[in-house]
Amino acid sequence: ALFVLGSFVVACSATVERLPRAGESLQAQAFLVEPGGKGLNLAVGARRLGAVVDGLLAIGDDALAALAEPALERAGLSAAMLRRVPGPTGAGIGFTDAFGENCLAVHPGANARLGAAEVRATAERIAGSALVLAQFEVGDDAVAETFRIARAAGVQTLLNPSPFRMPSPGILADTAILVVNAVESAAFGAALGIPVPCGAAEPSGFEVLASAILARGPDLVVVTLGASGALAFQAGRPALVQPAFPVAAVDTLGAGDAFTAGLAVGLAGGRPLPECLRIAASCGACVVRHKGVFDALPDRAALAALLAG
Ligand code: ADP
Repeated sequence: ALFVLGSFVVACSATVERLPRAGESLQAQAFLVEPGGKGLNLAVGARRLGAVVDGLLAIGDDALAALAEPALERAGLSAAMLRRVPGPTGAGIGFTDAFGENCLAVHPGANARLGAAEVRATAERIAGSALVLAQFEVGDDAVAETFRIARAAGVQTLLNPSPFRMPSPGILADTAILVVNAVESAAFGAALGIPVPCGAAEPSGFEVLASAILARGPDLVVVTLGASGALAFQAGRPALVQPAFPVAAVDTLGAGDAFTAGLAVGLAGGRPLPECLRIAASCGACVVRHKGVFDALPDRAALAALLAG
């Protein structure tokens, strides 16, 4: 199984002509309430591709928490992944304007209250999995403990440090696969004092950063660059270039989560890296063709259709 550590967030999004100004109330054209959060997206993305998925998602004790179980059920995931902690459920609110430009605020809620103790209660499930996935919508203690348990059991670990904060040296040392987008790679570079190019998808621009990260623990660094595709770096090997699939993008939200889910499923299945990158890129492309994330995450048929052209 794949084990996904957090997060669950109820995402509310209003479609508006233009983003509201300070003090202004606007009429919205549409309003969407969608169960999401990077953890749920990763879990659903992997499940749709046929993987067996387990994990730990925190919900609060408010009305929003009730949206979690039906969402998991609808995706074919077990409610045993849910852990209730006192306080509010993670929630986000966003606006998307007529140009597809958006702004967003997320309150982590229960996700931030998931601690090492909750993780330790699932230690056997973590140790028995094929690959563990984490992102930064949960706190450092939970990520560090999950990765420590995984590494001690010889389980692969994948980290997507999003929303970005610099991973602690301990977390980075326990990370086998690091996936960063353009913004996160720039922030990583800034934290390490290494400049990274903006806009160019040439591997050469990212090689110094990738080597610096590879020296700190991971044995695979993947940089995703939106419509410019993705790059993969391993120590002592030439970089791999994965172009993006040419699709008409409607809403790029969730592309990174879909990409990461595809990559994880491929790697956990023991497929060669170039094939995993291709699966990942096609998952990302599928999601950007539709509004929203949950229902846009592709199944194997949608993927096959895209790969067949
Ligand atoms: P994030 O959502 O984290 O910002 P990216 O925007 O880098 O991540 O997208 C992740 C991956 O999804 C890309 O590497 C690419 O394969 C795919 N993707 C993203 N945007 C597009 C697009 N407009 N057209 C085709 N593929 C895309």
